[in-house]
Amino acid sequence: MAKLLSSIPIKVASISKELRDYAALNLPRNHDVPLLDSLQRPLRDLRISVTDRCNLRCTYCMPRDVFDEQHNFLPRSELLSFEEIARLVKLFIPLGVQKIRLTGGEPLLRRGIERLVEMLARLNTNAGKPLEVALTTNGVLLAQKAQSLKDAGLSRISVSLDSLNNTTFRRMSDSDVPVGTVLDGIAAAQRAGLHPVKVNMVVQRVVNEHEILAMAEHFRHSGIVLRFIEYMDVGSSNGWRLDEVVSARVILERIAARYALRQIGANYPGEVAERWQYADGGGEIGVIASVTQVFCHDCTRARLATDGKLYTCLFATHGIDLREPLRLGAADTILTNLIAGRWGLRDDRYSELRATQQTPDKKIEMSYIGG
Ligand code: SAM
Ligand code: SF4
Ligand code: SF4
Repeated sequence: MAKLLSSIPIKVASISKELRDYAALNLPRNHDVPLLDSLQRPLRDLRISVTDRCNLRCTYCMPRDVFDEQHNFLPRSELLSFEEIARLVKLFIPLGVQKIRLTGGEPLLRRGIERLVEMLARLNTNAGKPLEVALTTNGVLLAQKAQSLKDAGLSRISVSLDSLNNTTFRRMSDSDVPVGTVLDGIAAAQRAGLHPVKVNMVVQRVVNEHEILAMAEHFRHSGIVLRFIEYMDVGSSNGWRLDEVVSARVILERIAARYALRQIGANYPGEVAERWQYADGGGEIGVIASVTQVFCHDCTRARLATDGKLYTCLFATHGIDLREPLRLGAADTILTNLIAGRWGLRDDRYSELRATQQTPDKKIEMSYIGG
């Protein structure tokens, strides 16, 4: 299929031309064969950014000097509605999607997010299993929302927390939010039965690397899976430098110097986190080595940006617009052709190319494309 599509330009001036191109394909899809991209990778996960706004200004994601009062956040009319998102998700499922992650920006800022969770949690995968609906949040509003999210059918939650120290946390999130607010959110998620709650810590040299062990100790024996994430060069505004990355190896060495660790297998093929257990039964931790150990070869993730553009890599520079055809009344077959056609052409492997410096200068911001 990739061959069939290779003559079709993705970037065309008018949407009607783009629609005509894809509609004309009338792709014969054999539904018994999984849709693969040009590097033979299936489409399994869809991350959806439900808002480009956030109540924090993490310096590595939405630095305040860029995302200030003058910044043009998307007007409401440009956001996909919940009905539009649900319709697209229903088209992604037959192409292989088994898991949805709602993200942003801060997804809990999107009014009535529980209604979207409910709409998606009702859907089944190709295999007839319930669609897995997960959400990543900074936790600020989680204490109020955890129970209603669970009641709406949310399967899992990941909470981002970079420090337990108020001074470090305030510096990294560039906000006055105390750490206690996020910890209350995590506790509420556990009480609501969102199991297992995962906590994600982005580790940045000098800034919070000295808090790795304190974080590990805090979450040992809590049932929470703490995952350490290498600081990445997402977007174009965080001024990323390689020497600010603390590698997953170093992180593990620091923890292993205090607590013996043993590696455990992945939960599913293509899982990005490497999983480890404390030998003394203290629970599980993970490392996500996006910079030092790239996993492009089995990357199965597509991303739907806040305004309905489809991106096939976190580091992409161009996405195809699904909102416009959707609002022009395109039939399901045309939208499916657009999605399947784009995935069939996909050859992204940014992290592999990073090492050779063949990467674009201007990348899409993570808050818009969805982390
Ligand atoms: N606002 C929500 C949150 O913070 O969890 C969801 C969106 S946020 C973009 C998703 C995840 O991306 C968070 O865990 C955040 O720490 C991570 N992230 C953002 N910028 C990053 C960077 N430069 N390197 C590594 N992780 C990053
Ligand atoms: Fe907001 Fe999440 Fe980005 Fe922090 S990482 S600025 S909480 S979107
Ligand atoms: Fe996937 Fe792109 Fe990340 Fe590689 S760089 S793992 S292709 S999102």
